[in-house]
Amino acid sequence: MRHEDVMGEQLARIVDLEALESSAGPRGRHAIEVPSGWEGSEIDVAVPTRVACARCDGGGCDACGRRGGHRIPGDITARTLRVRLPQTLGDGVVLRFVDPFHALADVGDGAPLAQLLLEMRRGSAASAGVTRVRVTIVPSTPMRLSVPPPMPTSKLGARIAAVATVAIALATLVALVAGR
Ligand SMILES: [Zn+2]
Repeated sequence: MRHEDVMGEQLARIVDLEALESSAGPRGRHAIEVPSGWEGSEIDVAVPTRVACARCDGGGCDACGRRGGHRIPGDITARTLRVRLPQTLGDGVVLRFVDPFHALADVGDGAPLAQLLLEMRRGSAASAGVTRVRVTIVPSTPMRLSVPPPMPTSKLGARIAAVATVAIALATLVALVAGR
């Protein structure tokens, strides 16, 4: 418990929501649906070549040059984000990626996306471009954990502990429940 508290504080300091909210720069929005059985899993999200502008929701504003959206350059590999879903999506969650495609900064026209808001909801099927990452256990690969697992566990248990740590970090980054 104590460790989680400390980690939460550190994340709060790094992720200054007010600063993120007020930051200028192109901000895109992409909404996906995933089957409820995928909650807690890792997924790959292939972001389409064009996303709606999160500031005007496609209506056209200064931030998107009245185009209502932003172009994402690069091939599908470069546009794919790996995300760990929270244990429950509830009514939907929004993850905010800062500078999500930094590697593509010099490619394409216009400024690179400063932020991407990924809206995730439960659905009957996964949206196009969304795939579940298969968990592969490679026993010969030693896990390097900064924090030892709370209990002596098998290698599978150690892997789950590592994954859980990442999940906690991600869950803390969840910006808001997508009630809008
Ligand atoms: Zn706009």
